[in-house]
Amino acid sequence: MKCAEVRKFVRLYLDSELDARNSFEVEQHLESCAECAGLFEAEKKFDARLSRFLRSGRPTSALWGKVETTIAPSRSRGVKALWPVALAASLIIVAGVVFFAKSRKLDLADAVEECHSAYVHQLTTPEFTGAVPDKIAQQFGGQLDAAAFAYRPSEPAFVSSGARLCHVEGVPVALILGRNGPTPVSLIVLKKSELDHFPNMKQRLESGDPIVCGHSGPYQFAARLVDDHVVCVVGDTPRPVLEDLLKTLRRADG
Ligand SMILES: [Zn+2]
Repeated sequence: MKCAEVRKFVRLYLDSELDARNSFEVEQHLESCAECAGLFEAEKKFDARLSRFLRSGRPTSALWGKVETTIAPSRSRGVKALWPVALAASLIIVAGVVFFAKSRKLDLADAVEECHSAYVHQLTTPEFTGAVPDKIAQQFGGQLDAAAFAYRPSEPAFVSSGARLCHVEGVPVALILGRNGPTPVSLIVLKKSELDHFPNMKQRLESGDPIVCGHSGPYQFAARLVDDHVVCVVGDTPRPVLEDLLKTLRRADG
């Protein structure tokens, strides 16, 4: 397997969604290629930071609270009586985790919120400014969607600090980090053809809405189609501001 191919599999591999044969080939390559191994390691660390951050949210602790109150009253009945409760409690945990995982809609607004949240909490930083450096482009063997990195709002209040590659539900996206005044705002750009991963958003954008708005967590979200790309803006800022950013999009290369 060549570097470009291995790097295409980074998300699938880390999410344990890659089949056995390809996983084996990826592992073999990582043993002999320090550069790819470093890249995988960085991506893994990013995952760990992100999941630590997500786990620190409320759903898990509320669930534990419930489990503890279920167990506590029955303790006086002795050890023998406890195991069915413990079993029930562990089932509640499993059901809760499965429910929590399944209830996450596969929707673009929810998916990109994680990217923006990571930026706001300084878990992710820009890797380059301006055009994609040749060194990064070469790693993808000409398959990198360099055009996605060229979009910027021409609204003067928006200042970009740079960009990086990111993955949203396994889809490679351009993540452009910036601020609108003092507020952190992320621009997330993906190929229109990747919309198949986000059926709700695809339907709304293709039904003719010029700008689709929504919110996810504490952030407002807006998206529009531009040529063959979908451009999203996310931030803790009023929707009309995000809409203005989308309306003033320019491409630096054209
Ligand atoms: Zn390699």
